[in-house]
Amino acid sequence: MPILRPLALVLLLAQFPPPALDVPKRAAPEWLAPYRDPAARLIGEAAATDAAWQRLAYLGDTYGHRLSGSPNLEAAIRWAVEEMKRDGLENVHTEAVKVPHWVRGRESLEIAGPIPQPLVVLGLGNSVGTPAAGIEAELLVVRSFEELDAAKDRVKGRIVLFNVPFTTYGDTVRFRALGPSRAGVLGAVAMLVRAVGPAGLRTPHTGALSYVDGQPQIPAAAVTTEDAARLQRMVDRGTTVRLKLLMEARFLPDADSANVVGEIRGRERPDEVVVIGGHFDSWDVGTGSTDDGGGCIATWEALRLMKKLNLRPRRTVRVVLWTNEENGGRGGQAYHDQHLAELANHVMMLESDGGVFRPTGFGFSGTETGRARVRDIATLLAGIHADGISPSGGGADIGPSVQQAGIPALSLEVEGNYFLLHHTPADTIDKIDPLEIARSSAAIAVMTYVIAEMPERLR
Ligand SMILES: [Zn+2]
Repeated sequence: MPILRPLALVLLLAQFPPPALDVPKRAAPEWLAPYRDPAARLIGEAAATDAAWQRLAYLGDTYGHRLSGSPNLEAAIRWAVEEMKRDGLENVHTEAVKVPHWVRGRESLEIAGPIPQPLVVLGLGNSVGTPAAGIEAELLVVRSFEELDAAKDRVKGRIVLFNVPFTTYGDTVRFRALGPSRAGVLGAVAMLVRAVGPAGLRTPHTGALSYVDGQPQIPAAAVTTEDAARLQRMVDRGTTVRLKLLMEARFLPDADSANVVGEIRGRERPDEVVVIGGHFDSWDVGTGSTDDGGGCIATWEALRLMKKLNLRPRRTVRVVLWTNEENGGRGGQAYHDQHLAELANHVMMLESDGGVFRPTGFGFSGTETGRARVRDIATLLAGIHADGISPSGGGADIGPSVQQAGIPALSLEVEGNYFLLHHTPADTIDKIDPLEIARSSAAIAVMTYVIAEMPERLR
């Protein structure tokens, strides 16, 4: 190889300009130098084990789904406390929360006429039930609230189906949440909603409804994408379809539950707290592995990894497994109420409730200064491609505290089939890849560790 004189070198390099403009690679900032080694160790340790996946599998296999008020949830909470202690976490305890206790009971939906035949159905959480004999009525199918209002003279005495194809969760979920009252106030006797999720092999999605105070409460349930399309076709052909819906759903008195808390106490500023977690309750179908067992285990794993590597940051890192996110939000509210005096010392809160598939980074809500910091820290995750920071972060359980005290909020962001799976009988561990949950845990661990360790507080 010829020795290049300086001028020749410049000319050679000029022929191959770096592709800097269309490949945005941010150089890792200087201030992160002390965190490069611990970050690499956290990522390495996470990827070297399937501990998070095994723990999530155990949770789902052993306790099943974990609806508020169920003995399963309470048994899982007791297990989590014992396991956190075995991991060597500190200050492990529960914080009592009264939760609503809704039970599904038996349920069925059938085409009563012209030719009787069963359909797949899944009642919506917090729905009232039908009379013991069920409700039989003619079907009215609409594709929007506008179509419902246009058909308002024909709603009375009918079962209304909102047949709205899934676009985004935010856009489509309002038919599940608000549809029952919108139909009920016009005289409908029951409401059905096309499952809020992408088409998934005739799989229905449950989820909470929200009755408007003072308006009639009618039973409400989800049907599958396939069955919704079929009922639409039958009605479009001019067929008069009669449906029969039976639901035993009802509320029992509020039940005792708890948030689970574990910590690594800060070595210099233990009173300043970085909180991470997920919600431990789930809907009463599947095993709640994606929603949100995975978020609980991955955040908890972040503390286990720090403990394992003897990384004790300057500030306290606290994992919280919130109860009752799905049908009440009482766990997140109770955390706010019970920690009100301490919220000013909450440096950051992170919730993972979007699945633990391939991590891409975090959503962040806070100041621009905070955003710049978090973007810097994320460069430590470039090696696992989890270095993206998107415009907003947060979560249902951290929401009350974050809003109260203006706490910087993060959420784990992933690429995966969350909305296909969540709230369905298909939400089980086999949909989760051990390496992806390991990397999700690593991403959370690195972000959390640096925020808890860096000399100045995240602002
Ligand atoms: Zn969730």
